[in-house]
Amino acid sequence: MNPKDPTSDITGADAAPFDSWAYDLFEPQGEEAPLLIDSPHSGRVYPADFQTRVTALVLRGAEDWMVDDLVGEAPLEGATLLAARFPRAYIDPNRRLDDIDPALIDGTWREPLNPGPKTALGIGLFRAKTNDGKPLLAGPLSVEGLQARIERCWWPYRRTLNDTLDRLHARHGAVWHIDMHSMKSVGTEITPDGPGVRRPDMVIGDLEGESCDPAFTAFVAERLIAMGYSVAVNDPYKGAEIIRTCGRPAENRHSLQIEMSRALYMDEATITATAGYARLKADLRRLVAEVAAWTQEAKAA
Ligand SMILES: [Zn+2]
Repeated sequence: MNPKDPTSDITGADAAPFDSWAYDLFEPQGEEAPLLIDSPHSGRVYPADFQTRVTALVLRGAEDWMVDDLVGEAPLEGATLLAARFPRAYIDPNRRLDDIDPALIDGTWREPLNPGPKTALGIGLFRAKTNDGKPLLAGPLSVEGLQARIERCWWPYRRTLNDTLDRLHARHGAVWHIDMHSMKSVGTEITPDGPGVRRPDMVIGDLEGESCDPAFTAFVAERLIAMGYSVAVNDPYKGAEIIRTCGRPAENRHSLQIEMSRALYMDEATITATAGYARLKADLRRLVAEVAAWTQEAKAA
């Protein structure tokens, strides 16, 4: 299996050594913009020590399926692209390291735990539930195994994210960052809006204005609306740990999150691409091009 091939299926066969390929980092081609796109939840390489009680189809419903490929043309427009290879069901780089349900651990954790609302929903650092709220894991997980996931996946991803933002900031004096996700088109048992609630096409999150200049949020929303998408801001998703730690607008570091409805590009029951896939991918390339041009002007302003 080629882990860079977006059509590759799940496997644990060549999952070790894992840390050397916990992520892919794609440098921009042509003129570099102060813009980073990251996809933390689209990893689909399941290591051999990942044990689950559900089918592959149910398991893969936890992925932000193919988001790395949907934004895969971002480097052609001057953006840097970071994508996780490990699945979010293995460990979630968009969570705090202490956001863990103690019941998942077989043994004694070295650090104090601080399980939050995401853990209560079964989607903390280590995911415990399927989209419909059923148990995902085969049983409690060893302390050593979980620590290894943190060292081999969480830290490499977050360090690379931080280092890349630092590098862009140092070169340009400012940096803009879009944290890309996809969401079920309808709310579920494990989402903040609850089951049955239909979502808009796109939900932009900026932590109620805390993670970036409001002009960035407004520009992205306006461009998406101009492309014909329905857009909501901070409802039901305001953004999570990645933009909370990376977004520091007072330092000219601007992060926002985009959640795209999976109905735009995939059949959510069968996890297959629909006719909308190509259109969304083309629109995202256009969005990145427009945002890249906007950042070049904004950094000089
Ligand atoms: Zn996500």
